[in-house]
Amino acid sequence: MFTDIRSKRVIFLAHCILNQNAISDGTAGYPAAHADVVRAILDAQVGIVQMPCPELCCLGLDRGDPQGADRPVVVENTRIRGALDRPDAREQLDRLVDHVMLQIREYLRHGFQIAGIVGVNRSPSCGADTTSDHDREVAGQGVFLAKLQAALAADGISLPVIGIKCTPEALDAVRALLRA
Ligand code: SF4
Repeated sequence: MFTDIRSKRVIFLAHCILNQNAISDGTAGYPAAHADVVRAILDAQVGIVQMPCPELCCLGLDRGDPQGADRPVVVENTRIRGALDRPDAREQLDRLVDHVMLQIREYLRHGFQIAGIVGVNRSPSCGADTTSDHDREVAGQGVFLAKLQAALAADGISLPVIGIKCTPEALDAVRALLRA
């Protein structure tokens, strides 16, 4: 099975790395996508699994406040973090994690290699090394990534997880992940 031309290698990316139109107002770093990162992944013959954008799916494209871009980013991110703690948002986050976990389990069950998971640092949702809380960028994970990592641990699945920002260093980090 699956002996066709496919590489049987995939990587899971935070949604906005492929679609900057989903990111919170005022924070897009590119018109459409983090193109260098996407290109490096495709050049390595690795398929891209775009994870859902937790904030868009839980709070809407405007994150529930059309004036959000008027605040400093970490202040707005802290507000978003609080909004994601509402019961309805938490339930939706759980559904999104289930959706990603289903895909991870399927790829692993069929012997595919998962190069890793790429989050977005400083995000209150998808931060991997840093997130936003108490109106600051702090060490730690965003709420979505933390739930996803808990679900992976519960299943005994260990995958590399990195966080990037819209900087040139992001390309080095993703290339290193692909080589690992
Ligand atoms: S970092 Fe996560 S929550 Fe924020 S825009 Fe990207 S995918 Fe959405």
